[in-house]
Amino acid sequence: MSPRVSGHLDGGRLWRDLMELARFGATELGGVNRLALSREEIAARKVLIGWAGEFGAEAAVDAAANLYLRLEGREPSLPPLQTGSHIDTQPTGGKFDGAYGVVAGLAALRSIVASGRRPRRSVEVVAWMNEEGSRFAPGMMGSAVFTGKRTLAEILSVRDKAGVSVSEAMGPVLENEKHLPRRPLGYPVAGYVEAHIEQGPTLEAQQKTIGVVTGIGGKRTFRVEVKGEPAHAGTSSRRDRRDALVSAVAIVDALQKAIWDDADTVRFTIGMFTVTPNAPSVVPSRVVFAVDLRHDDDATVRRLGDLVPVICGKARGKCDVNVIPLLYDVPLQFPASIRSRVAQAAKGLGYSSMELNSPAGHDSRYLHYHCPTGMVFIPCKAGISHNEAESITPADAEAGARVLADVLFDLADGA
Ligand SMILES: [Zn+2]
Repeated sequence: MSPRVSGHLDGGRLWRDLMELARFGATELGGVNRLALSREEIAARKVLIGWAGEFGAEAAVDAAANLYLRLEGREPSLPPLQTGSHIDTQPTGGKFDGAYGVVAGLAALRSIVASGRRPRRSVEVVAWMNEEGSRFAPGMMGSAVFTGKRTLAEILSVRDKAGVSVSEAMGPVLENEKHLPRRPLGYPVAGYVEAHIEQGPTLEAQQKTIGVVTGIGGKRTFRVEVKGEPAHAGTSSRRDRRDALVSAVAIVDALQKAIWDDADTVRFTIGMFTVTPNAPSVVPSRVVFAVDLRHDDDATVRRLGDLVPVICGKARGKCDVNVIPLLYDVPLQFPASIRSRVAQAAKGLGYSSMELNSPAGHDSRYLHYHCPTGMVFIPCKAGISHNEAESITPADAEAGARVLADVLFDLADGA
């Protein structure tokens, strides 16, 4: 058996790179505020390009400001293998969400170079533009455009809260990287494997080092608008009222009773709820709330999602109700071919592993429709993420990068 490239992986360097990258947008509480296409992100990209150059990887950029760091294979004309993630964060984000996948990808490429071996295919680390969707919504913009799920024109016109468009914000990024070669969007890719922190508590609770990700859960979202009539709190009788809050509360109760399951597998959230006019002595005339519904199984997501307008109609009382469907992402399963590679690589290195599904979205969602795709999860402390307190251990970071390195090399060197 050939020696593994992961034997050459430098875990100390990996950790130092993570800490160095976290300086760009560092917050007082130890987190990171590095919004998509911000000055901080431009500076962080420059550092990544420098690190890639140290071992001979070439940087390139595309029209959606996705950044590619490519280690040339023995047969450069073949479609490359890709890995990566994103380096944008939430405004009160942590050091590891996204950044880990990019830095681990670079560590994997460095280990391939250190091993003295070259795979057949080139291997690219990609930092996808705007995964978080915090400054420009919705997220996963760069990977969506690369894979043709959204058009470039569509995303360029999206504006942030200050009125700045993606197109305007991208200007300084592309200007700063104008010396780099330009890649086309959507070129053929042989496979994509993304390393990421779990962002949930399962691996830590089960005391496993590596998560073999089976797929990404399904999600449906709705906006529900309940319309009644404003009235005086003192003079209007119960019989005459059309109280939008009373109807909305009845609807929420009915939705919870119908959607929550005994096995606790359904994720059902009403995270936004606004009452109008929201005055102490006025019968509410209007309520708007948001429904976020998630499950691993497509039939369940569809069935429960289809129930939402039906239940809203039945429980509306004397008010009118309008249910607006916003998003429907079907659950997806990563191919067994990639999952088994990840599981085997973990086993070969003596790391404990388990299969688990990702309820959170990732760039891998879009890459899945473009090429065989999979993900490697590592534990994060207490499952905390999108939070300045996000925390992982150097040992887990190294383990995930080693698994990634072996998987990437085997896939890139294979048929
Ligand atoms: Zn992420």
